[in-house]
Amino acid sequence: MIVLVINCGSSSIKYQLFDMRNEAVLAKGLMERIGMDKASFIHQPAHKDRVTLSRPINDHGVGIRMVLDSLVDPTIGVIESLNEIAAVGHRVLHGGMKFSDSVLITPDVIEAIEECVELGPLHNPANILGIKACEKLMPDVPQIAVFDTGFHQTMPPHAYLYGLPYEAFEKYGVRRYGFHGTSHRYVSQRALALMGGVEKARRIITCHLGNGASVAAILNGCCVDTSMGLTPLEGLVMGTRCGDIDPAIIPFLMKKTGMSPEEIDAYMNKKSGLLGLSGISNDVRDIEEAALQGHNRANIALEVYVHSIRKYIGSYAATMGGVDAIVFTAGLGENSISMRSRICHGLEFLGAYIDTNKNSVYGKETEISTDSSPVKIFVIPTNEELVIARDSVGICAKLQNADQSQNAALGAPRRAHSSL
Ligand code: AMP
Repeated sequence: MIVLVINCGSSSIKYQLFDMRNEAVLAKGLMERIGMDKASFIHQPAHKDRVTLSRPINDHGVGIRMVLDSLVDPTIGVIESLNEIAAVGHRVLHGGMKFSDSVLITPDVIEAIEECVELGPLHNPANILGIKACEKLMPDVPQIAVFDTGFHQTMPPHAYLYGLPYEAFEKYGVRRYGFHGTSHRYVSQRALALMGGVEKARRIITCHLGNGASVAAILNGCCVDTSMGLTPLEGLVMGTRCGDIDPAIIPFLMKKTGMSPEEIDAYMNKKSGLLGLSGISNDVRDIEEAALQGHNRANIALEVYVHSIRKYIGSYAATMGGVDAIVFTAGLGENSISMRSRICHGLEFLGAYIDTNKNSVYGKETEISTDSSPVKIFVIPTNEELVIARDSVGICAKLQNADQSQNAALGAPRRAHSSL
């Protein structure tokens, strides 16, 4: 079964085509700056040379068409016909309180995703554009939505409610939703598998540390708390996001500077975090280099960053009554030996002992705690696309079963889905 995974951002499309018989990636690519003067398109077929293009791409519809054309192109393609694609899985940012699981996309589901646009104003409209473009170009192929918020829907009210008047939640849906759910789900399930099941790893803390970053507390395989909130702005100090701040800072700064709501939103989302603190970059590699050369603000930025992560690890250990495993994933979590070491240093009181030699690893699934460490520490590369593809396969199998039961009940001959 061949599954196309699509992840549309406001001006970008990321994709991966999987052969789910062996979960092999047949092709992947990235299109950026859609709707701008010159868009860039990188298409990487497996076992063939990478193709790069630079030309205007007006909208997501045109972009998706180009992606599909590349997949079936006689030279750079990897399949003969679009009929080989059995399902398209879409990453959707915000499912609000409506979606805890991945779903087959129907007109009602699109309407529900549209209702969540207020909560995910940058991403949900782009996700809908991608879904509609795929529906138009592949009308008979099941489209599946996999929500970034879905995995966190198991949080109990005491973790997802803010200390605001209850009407803010009831009337406006103001609560913690959490993001990076597909990643937290994937790496926590891998950690469970590596540790031999939920009896051995009841309490897991997953740290998704990329340019955007979040931590999640996973109890008995279910998310019970996470650091991002109504939007991805809350929680850790990130590449360009401020993370947790005193909410009174917002009106204070607006009065002092005359910033509008949109301007203060951009200030906190795009100009803050590691970039704002260091004044150098949002990338830890640049900041570490500057810190080594004695740049004071670079050093402070790294200290604030590490402090915010350790604070979340400690508080989740407290709320879960301890921790059995800590997992690092995403760009920094998978690749930064120095930051993993700094984050774990001082967590020995929890029973988490990092092994310096084992920690010398980049982007590879590895246990990095000492052999005697009561708390296991892992590096687990995330694979959100694979989760989306697997969910798509699961939903298609359910559809096929439902179809077969219905046909059997009607006494009709079974209709085979040739592509499944
Ligand atoms: P992501 O958003 O998951 O693609 O992660 C991107 C971020 O990961 C970058 O902004 C860097 O801060 C960080 N990163 C990636 N590779 C490394 C590395 N080798 N060392 C330190 N940080 C890294």
